[in-house]
Amino acid sequence: SPHISFRGVTKRFPVKGTEFTAVDGIDLDVARGEFLVLVGPSGCGKSTLLDLLGGLTSPSEGEILLDGTPITGPGLDRGIVFQQYALLPWRTAQGNVEFGLEATGVPRRQRAERAAEFLNLVGLSGFEDRHPHQLSGGMRQRVAIARSLAYDPAVLLMDEPFAALDAQTRESLQDELVRIWQRTGKTIVFITHAIDEAVLLGQRVAVLTSRPGRVKEVVPIDLGDRLS
Ligand code: ADP
Ligand code: ADP
Repeated sequence: SPHISFRGVTKRFPVKGTEFTAVDGIDLDVARGEFLVLVGPSGCGKSTLLDLLGGLTSPSEGEILLDGTPITGPGLDRGIVFQQYALLPWRTAQGNVEFGLEATGVPRRQRAERAAEFLNLVGLSGFEDRHPHQLSGGMRQRVAIARSLAYDPAVLLMDEPFAALDAQTRESLQDELVRIWQRTGKTIVFITHAIDEAVLLGQRVAVLTSRPGRVKEVVPIDLGDRLS
């Protein structure tokens, strides 16, 4: 059975006394361990879909099932990485990753070990004691990824996580993410407006259109496509 299942998901926002349909009747299944990319132009509802998956907002119609159970709010079964790093500036890299564990009931000693392990996973061993302002943009985003992975969510949700980075840093983070995905077996839902990034990262790419946001087609990406 699918890990994630969108069933007739529609989201409307009240706008000037009427309603604006941001996403309209989305039906889509995501397999366990799949790397799915949602791609489309600005305004096609990508962030809305990710917010719905994150439980940060709820559908106007339809439902999203996670392991067969409707999503009703945020949960530790889903980690989210946003475009802006959203790190706590007064905490070190280590402290930021530990922050993600404080809600989980993992004892303090193990939080420290786990944080160090996940900073190592994202290539930041030796940078544990740096504060965000002492890290490059790419390194900050690595911390954000470590933080969201450290409490072992089954699903990783990523909202244009590399869009604010320079091209070279973006490429290194893209490679790193594929490695992390292969090593951890997480289900990843990744959104981007860049078709090249979608095709590079996704096992399947769902192409969205706007006004209202709908799935136009879902394309499996094979190695031949990736190399071309
Ligand atoms: P994308 O991430 O693809 O750029 P969004 O999900 O941010 O698209 O937005 C989809 C559409 O819904 C856009 O037209 C946007 O203006 C509208 N929208 C998003 N959030 C709200 C909101 N809170 N209130 C009104 N309209 C919104
Ligand atoms: P990133 O791709 O992580 O953003 P940058 O290209 O911005 O990294 O690198 C900023 C500086 O930090 C560079 O001098 C780079 O060599 C160094 N650096 C980045 N990641 C590491 C790491 N894991 N270990 C050692 N040095 C690093």
